[in-house]
Amino acid sequence: MTKHIFVTGGVVSSLGKGLTSASIGMLLERRGLRVRMQKLDPYINVDPGTMSPYQHGEVYVLDDGSETDLDLGHYERFTNSPLTRDSNYTTGQIYLSVINKERRGDYLGKTVQVIPHITNEIKSVIQKLAADNVDVVITEIGGTVGDIESQPFLEAIRQFSLDIGKENCLYIHLTLVPYLKAAGELKTKPTQHSVGQLRQIGIQPDILICRTERSISREDREKIALFCNVPKDAVIEEKDKDFSIYEVPLSLMDNKLDELIVRRLGLAAGQLDMDDWRDLLHKLRNPDHELGIAVVGKYAEHRDAYKSIYEALDHAGIAHRAQIRIQRIQSEEVERDGPERLLAGYDGLLVPGGFGERGIEGKVEAIRFARERGIPFFGICLGMQCAAVEFARNVVGLAGAHSTEICKDTPHPVICLLDEQKAITDKGGTMRLGAQEAVLAADSRAAEAYRRTRIFERHRHRYEFNNVYRNQFVAHGMCFAGTSPDGSLVEVIELPAHPWFVAVQFHPEFKSKPTAAHPLFAGFIGAAVARHASRSERSREVEMP
Ligand code: GLN
Repeated sequence: MTKHIFVTGGVVSSLGKGLTSASIGMLLERRGLRVRMQKLDPYINVDPGTMSPYQHGEVYVLDDGSETDLDLGHYERFTNSPLTRDSNYTTGQIYLSVINKERRGDYLGKTVQVIPHITNEIKSVIQKLAADNVDVVITEIGGTVGDIESQPFLEAIRQFSLDIGKENCLYIHLTLVPYLKAAGELKTKPTQHSVGQLRQIGIQPDILICRTERSISREDREKIALFCNVPKDAVIEEKDKDFSIYEVPLSLMDNKLDELIVRRLGLAAGQLDMDDWRDLLHKLRNPDHELGIAVVGKYAEHRDAYKSIYEALDHAGIAHRAQIRIQRIQSEEVERDGPERLLAGYDGLLVPGGFGERGIEGKVEAIRFARERGIPFFGICLGMQCAAVEFARNVVGLAGAHSTEICKDTPHPVICLLDEQKAITDKGGTMRLGAQEAVLAADSRAAEAYRRTRIFERHRHRYEFNNVYRNQFVAHGMCFAGTSPDGSLVEVIELPAHPWFVAVQFHPEFKSKPTAAHPLFAGFIGAAVARHASRSERSREVEMP
């Protein structure tokens, strides 16, 4: 029988519930258990696809084309649990489904209510992941205990243990134990209140994971255990990790969390092997090079807007034993101050995906700078579209070339809408989404990086390269290194004469893992390492008497 773990959060948001859940998944999976991961988000949007990165950070796209919460990125990077549309539900989706059933007459004249109809719907999406070949389902509840929006979800997980038996469920609550400078001590009261709120609605947490900046003393641990009604060994410390998020699973392991879970749920688990993970941290701590990579995007100030890209750069850094200093640069700043001032010192430039006009000319200018100076350049989605616009304007000589997303009546629409997209007016879930096949030219940089010519990568865009311009681009040195299998959609463009200039219409960042860097990110960082080495060589030559 599949066992269920529920992860809730209390005291404040942003405690790293996603990362903690992903770490729990990792530890259990590495003990030989078959794990499924899921996030339930209390907001009313049907999915985060329509939300601004300011609200929600990155939208994480799965193979099946679902647009999901960025915590699913942590799940995929930390575990091998297959993720699908069923791995992320929101209040909006739950209500939509219930309302559709009501319209179909499925409720046979009953009054449709939060309890039991909404809670039943929530329980059914949790139950969907349970199967013969699944040992544990980990369900993370978004938001913080006490939020009005969270209540139906908490009520549903409370009922869940009545349905399948208490012994088959485990409630883990993540809280904050803040350090008060003025008092010179850690404070357990917020945790007591948060657990109090959970108990009011009928959930007694089995395990408390306490985020803290200082070690929790034995007395404080005993106090938390007593007031929160949990055994002492179920109060697990999760100290802040300044160095890397990859330390979290190891720290939870050191605090014996996996043992506790396995024991409480009576799981038949094997030994834990974290050697490769320790090796990864060792590499991260002992780099051979230090590289500066500029990421020029619209939401540079927002740490979560391009989360998977920053992660994928780190993975490629680990593969090359390079520490990556990522400089987030707002593209509007490039418009204001010019690329020379902002970009001259970097070993590589990346322009990520995005939407809309703001800062677009800064991206185009940044790409021109990288192209002309031979700085390794990696363009992703809108980054590829901007690279096409830049090349059209400055190399092919098509003045005013643009994407019709930004400029409807450009004289040279090098990026435009496909006919099938033109009739679509709804914004939610209507882009070209999810894993699609692409075929790479055998002698391309991309094929060299992947070591194969057929790839599957995830997409999230409406606009495409306009094939009318292909011949002119080729005549001026652009290589169309990847297309859809029928050749109709451009997937990868490259400049063979440049040290490393590769831009892709898809989002490779979603498939990179700490222990398996994505081939294109590894290729990009490899080129940045080479540039860094040749620059240090040159500066040494200059210093020589
Ligand atoms: N805005 C562009 C499009 O819709 C690019 C999207 C993206 O970068 N994800 O095609």
